[in-house]
Amino acid sequence: MSDQKMSKRLFGTNGIRGIVGTEMTPDLALRIGAALATMRRGSIAVGRDTRTSGEGLAHAVKAGILMCGCDVIDLGILPIPALQYIQRGRCDAGAMVTASHNPPQYNGIKIIDSDGTEMGDAEIIRLESILFDGGFSAASWDQVGTERSGAHLLDRYIEGVVSRFPAGIGDGMNVVVDPGSGPAALTTPRILSQLGCRVYTVNAQLDGRFPGRLPEPSPEGLKALSEMVVSTGSAFGVAHDGDADRAVFIDDQGRYVEENHEFALIADHICSQEKGIIVTPVSTSRLIEDVAEKYGCSVDYTPVGSIYVARRMKELIAAGERVVFGGEGNGGLIYPGFQFCRDGGMTAAMMVALLAARRADLSSMLDDLPAYCLIKEKISAENRHELIERCADLFSSEVTDLSDGVRISRGRTWALIRASGTEPLVRLMVESDDIKAAEAFCREIMDAIAPLLG
Ligand code: MG
Repeated sequence: MSDQKMSKRLFGTNGIRGIVGTEMTPDLALRIGAALATMRRGSIAVGRDTRTSGEGLAHAVKAGILMCGCDVIDLGILPIPALQYIQRGRCDAGAMVTASHNPPQYNGIKIIDSDGTEMGDAEIIRLESILFDGGFSAASWDQVGTERSGAHLLDRYIEGVVSRFPAGIGDGMNVVVDPGSGPAALTTPRILSQLGCRVYTVNAQLDGRFPGRLPEPSPEGLKALSEMVVSTGSAFGVAHDGDADRAVFIDDQGRYVEENHEFALIADHICSQEKGIIVTPVSTSRLIEDVAEKYGCSVDYTPVGSIYVARRMKELIAAGERVVFGGEGNGGLIYPGFQFCRDGGMTAAMMVALLAARRADLSSMLDDLPAYCLIKEKISAENRHELIERCADLFSSEVTDLSDGVRISRGRTWALIRASGTEPLVRLMVESDDIKAAEAFCREIMDAIAPLLG
């Protein structure tokens, strides 16, 4: 069984996030730092994205850590996968001040464990209880921590990614990078350039007001990137979210690449070289099963959330299984040979490797993928957990996964019914290669649950 989700009071699936000044305050940041240093001895890496509130909140986190007796390595502004890479084996934990793809008025904190993965639910619940109970282990004057700068360590991440690929693999390839004024401005252009690409950039100035586009790399926000890909005759454009654990693409014709298509193409490239298991949440498109079947690989499903994917990959490997790839259908992809976290810089580099290997345009590869259509519904339900259990009974002969809600498969059509973690509603997704089959299955499920809705 994969890690099951556990209830947390403050932290969500991707750390804690809130509006600066009301929900995300220096006091909270300080207490998170203090709680983390109470749980871990030794040194803690601290990094941040480019948000205007990042510097102040990072100072607060560091104050909490230092006064509870741990040392701080301040990595400054950097992508979260870079912090995870640098920290692993060097520090006892990490804290990243970021709100990922949220708008500029938000900020938050993600906690990284000593192995470079996001801290698991059980440990986060322990951290929350220290934070709420105030059980901090304040250090005496001669035991408080010290801080040193680790800004120079960023080069190791860039070298780490580049060293995974043959020299000059991107020679002759034009590419455009849109870091969205976030920390990937410091890494992805250098990575792609060191692979041999000619790199153009847009929104590559560090700016927490996000003047060019919001941190979420949406199709509407990437118009400038799309235009530049076409005008420079580039092979692709790549954009990152606010902490650069995700990468999304624009193809050579200037079209936004749906993230499940990105996942499938990169999975196809990896599985063509190495057979094994692909790990992904239950909400991912069936396209990934098509790719796996083509190469005799298999798909292992987890609850929704990258931490469950990363931990499941490690668990399978520890059990002697061969895991070749993992990730989510939102451009957050995990390369087990490199590290067990979503990595936007590595994904940008992998796209160069994929195009170099195939010697075909990204647009034509995308056009060759099987077409699926997706229907999404939100249903208000006070008794959402009971409703999920009833669905599992009603469709028991077709249920293929129960790790997060109910996944039901019927030939090339599948559905997922999940309860919201925070609101009284359930989410229904139905995907099929035949729109009529998807609509009919969606209606059948809606009819089946209608009597259960109050
Ligand atoms: Mg992110």
